[in-house]
Amino acid sequence: MLLVGNGRLITRDEEKPFMEDGCVCIEGQRIAGIGGTSAMRQKYPQAEFVDAKGGIIMPGLINAHNHIYSAFARGLSIKGNNPTNFLEILDGTWWHIDRTLNLADTYHSAMVTYLDCIRNGVTTVFDHHASYGGIEGSLFRIADAARELGVRTCLCYEVSDRDGEAKMQAAVKENADFIQAAMKDDSDMQKAMMGMHASFTLSDASLELCRKNTPEGIGCHIHVAEGMDDVYITLKKYNKRIINRLFDMDLLGPHSIMGHCIHINPAEMDILKETDTMVVHNPESNMGNAVGCPPVLRLMEKGILTGLGTDGYTNDMIESYKVGNILHKHSNCDPTVAWGEIPQMLFGNNAKIGGRYFKTPLGILKAGAAADVIVMEYNPFTPLDGSNCNSHILFGMNGRNVVTTIINGKVLMKDRVMTADEERITVQAREQAADMWRRINA
Ligand SMILES: [Zn+2]
Repeated sequence: MLLVGNGRLITRDEEKPFMEDGCVCIEGQRIAGIGGTSAMRQKYPQAEFVDAKGGIIMPGLINAHNHIYSAFARGLSIKGNNPTNFLEILDGTWWHIDRTLNLADTYHSAMVTYLDCIRNGVTTVFDHHASYGGIEGSLFRIADAARELGVRTCLCYEVSDRDGEAKMQAAVKENADFIQAAMKDDSDMQKAMMGMHASFTLSDASLELCRKNTPEGIGCHIHVAEGMDDVYITLKKYNKRIINRLFDMDLLGPHSIMGHCIHINPAEMDILKETDTMVVHNPESNMGNAVGCPPVLRLMEKGILTGLGTDGYTNDMIESYKVGNILHKHSNCDPTVAWGEIPQMLFGNNAKIGGRYFKTPLGILKAGAAADVIVMEYNPFTPLDGSNCNSHILFGMNGRNVVTTIINGKVLMKDRVMTADEERITVQAREQAADMWRRINA
């Protein structure tokens, strides 16, 4: 039994959204209940007590779209690579990196990424992986890292024709193998999807192969209309809009995630709604690649389940939350928009997306939900309660405010001290990254 108390509780449970001096009681891997700190301590005098010291206690954050394979790009410069548009960024940077990645690179990228997630209070990660330099076993190496560190995760490999038929087939097989393994795993800590790069790098035969290898109840995770090239090439080669093409290939549905959806039209939005397909918004990435502002406010207005991710830009979901808030105001020249939608994406919809894969309820502090709980150091100089906590998070906090991270009932970081050997993991990753950098510029 574990109590996390003496803090302001933000539960994300409509029945009791906020408690001024709250406490979460954890039993095993689940939350047993919430209550006042002194009452809970009296009720469970033997329980271990994690003191939030007046900070914020809230559910662990969920990242609905990340790229572990991008971890070693930090600070990297690739000889001769000076991309001037999105396609050149993909080809010269990301595809070049993923072609270089071997299984050791993938494993150490995963270790430092998950470590950074724990540091930033991210307790569940949906990842989209590519390592065409070492395909077979790559998802299993990422899964090893997630298991070692105790992070909840949903993995997939991004199938693409860009490196030829044999590698495309190996990528489908990696997804299929990992899906089978994840379906047998009853820990509710590891799930799988069928990953695909994007419509413009996948032939009809490749999409068909993906579909055939996707069991019932599993969806695909794919980038959609991130750049106009995806739209143009799909129209030119297949005479269809991207969402129409994926619909015709039977790849949409309540378990599928479409990343970005920047250049989709209203008819495609209606197909997403009709098929109950999920969308994930990655504001920083879209701005960084200069690909445009996605119509996610409209998607939400239509009732399409839209979550928030980082696309490998950061592991700090609060950073993504801040940028999402200003991107839409800036793009619409309207300071009144996105106040409600971005919090809904991060705190409401990401939990719903998690709920379509994980059995235990995520993103909420209530009895029966997953014991994924974080403590943020925060002493507000203005009044804080359940009605304005999202604004306090927006303007007063970032991922570095997280001091304690608990996942699946295990304390993985307490008062900024990790249970994992942070120093060893970082040193090993740095050596591996230096080796990868030598290979990429050889
Ligand atoms: Zn992505």
